[in-house]
Amino acid sequence: MIHLGMSGRLEILDKETPPKKHDHVDITFHNSKNILRYTDPRRFGSIFWIDGDIKDHFLISRLGPEPLESLFTGDYLFSKAQNKKSPIKNIIMDSHIVVGVGNIYASESLFKAGVIPNKLGKDTSLDECTKIVKHIKATLIKAIELGGSSLKDFYNVNGQSGYFQQTYNVYGMKGKPCRKCKSIIENMKIGQRSSFFCIKCQN
Ligand SMILES: [Zn+2]
Repeated sequence: MIHLGMSGRLEILDKETPPKKHDHVDITFHNSKNILRYTDPRRFGSIFWIDGDIKDHFLISRLGPEPLESLFTGDYLFSKAQNKKSPIKNIIMDSHIVVGVGNIYASESLFKAGVIPNKLGKDTSLDECTKIVKHIKATLIKAIELGGSSLKDFYNVNGQSGYFQQTYNVYGMKGKPCRKCKSIIENMKIGQRSSFFCIKCQN
């Protein structure tokens, strides 16, 4: 199992490609002249050999559902959020609740749902949770269609970065006018992470 951490990535390369600074592991195949190379500038990733059921592994056994799974619904998010005093943005980025919702997807989905990122879990209604879940799914599907996401360091296995970033509404847009209402996009820190929002469109 390969855990990409914050910035790990895999690339298919010719066996002869010399390693660069942040390349850590090459996986070779006896029937191919290509290798699978693991690169990780921030080094939060890890690689495990697993015997037995991967679902029992400590990194996976306590994880929440995938966002696109049918288990991830408005009712589910509401049940997890309603007794929490933490901001809804942190709740949707908590991998024990739902996996794979990073800072960009969280910011963009909350904008689309019209929910301000620092709204506390316990103050978030079922209707809002339903909208948030709907937009997390839609945002992810759109990003996948556009070839993935991310700031500077997302690449697919062919080494190309994604195009999703060109369609951001709020992420990284501090000081720019909101695409919907022309108010200026603001930024606040929530749990050490930059959180972009429109004060008019989100409450
Ligand atoms: Zn707005």
